[in-house]
Amino acid sequence: MSDGPTHGFDTLQIHAGARPDPATGARQTPIYQTTAYVFRDADHAAALFNLQEVGFIYSRLTNPTVAVLQERIATLEGGVGAVCCSSGHAAQIMALFPLMGPGCNIVASTRLYGGTVTQFSQTIKRFGWSATFVDTDDLDAVKGAIDENTRAIFCESIANPGGYVTDIRALADVADAAGIPLIVDNTSATPYLCRPIEHGASLVVHSTTKYLTGNGTVTGGCVVDSGKFDWSASDKFPSLSQPETAYHGLKFHETFGPLAFTFHSIAIGLRDLGMTMNPQAAHYTLMGIETLSLRMERHVENAQKIAAWLEADDRVDYVTYAGLPSSPYSERVKAHYPKGAGALFTFAVKGGYEACVKLVNALEIFSHVANLGDARSLIIHSASTTHRQLSPEQQEAAGAGPNVVRLSIGIEDANDLIADLDQALAQASA
Ligand SMILES: *Cc1c(COP(=O)(O)O)cnc(C)c1O
Repeated sequence: MSDGPTHGFDTLQIHAGARPDPATGARQTPIYQTTAYVFRDADHAAALFNLQEVGFIYSRLTNPTVAVLQERIATLEGGVGAVCCSSGHAAQIMALFPLMGPGCNIVASTRLYGGTVTQFSQTIKRFGWSATFVDTDDLDAVKGAIDENTRAIFCESIANPGGYVTDIRALADVADAAGIPLIVDNTSATPYLCRPIEHGASLVVHSTTKYLTGNGTVTGGCVVDSGKFDWSASDKFPSLSQPETAYHGLKFHETFGPLAFTFHSIAIGLRDLGMTMNPQAAHYTLMGIETLSLRMERHVENAQKIAAWLEADDRVDYVTYAGLPSSPYSERVKAHYPKGAGALFTFAVKGGYEACVKLVNALEIFSHVANLGDARSLIIHSASTTHRQLSPEQQEAAGAGPNVVRLSIGIEDANDLIADLDQALAQASA
């Protein structure tokens, strides 16, 4: 099948990138469980190593099963290429790696997955990189935070822990004016609810661990390139625009054009950082993606019902779901996220910390785990777990106050989920 723009999302999520196995005719994509590939002859090997011919050398760089997943995600996001990695956090480093050097910084949203805040505020400093965190609703603050060493703006589309959606177009305009790419973490939205490249994003990152796989089986990540950013327009991105000594002075942007970022990520990023996705993980994620649209529809429908039920309940102080009419982001959801605001949100329980702990313990269908985007419903009390190390002020700022729990709504029967919350709230407020 050609993956032309005439095909709908539901068709592409099953077919894009895949074709019957040329050796056996196998209809499902085989798991190519191999580390290496036999070269036709010495000339073939040399051409592959010089990047003069595209092919498989060694599975740290490329693998046929992983390649199908890469093409599938790139197609669903409307990008020209993608690189899969071992986790979402690996994907974030892989996205920044070609752009950054010692002394460079990124401007990042304050509303990010907790692990990303730690990666950006602490770990990347070891590479000589840094991040400035700003409220991305305040576009003047975003502009003000950009300096001559800024190499990207980073945000999430539907942001963790829920209740917030980003105006991607507005941020993309700021990034364009500054001559830097906008990187959007599209994990919580998935390309079914939001395609950031259509709103001006240059790169999209995913934790495929979450909705794309959809069943909590494997960790993985992906960086998708729009192919639209001009890496040679300034001297800010020498890794892509200047000669690369490891490949005889080859210039990635000049040689590979819109695929420069993707080729660099494989030929330098995966080759030297080695954060490779294995073919088993790619297989599980390919299985998951086949049903992405069906699952996301149900995730959103359930989240909408449950958020409305909780908001109307006396035992609940407030609910932060961007899909509720009461949300300050309700208009933005209608304009930019017409298929819904995802399935992640928080709510505040009357009775504070103690009531939250009782609620979490009393739930039977919801699992208490540090994950999200699973087919099953999940809950976490951040103040006693992921945000335990933070001061009370920091917990409040992160939307993780002692009285707040985060839900990741699954695709079970919404009535069962409501009944479970009902009985657990009764025990929590007893
Ligand atoms: C989980 C998550 C990550 C990190 O992904 P891992 O696969 O756990 O490394 C990054 N961003 C968001 C929004 C996430 O939910």
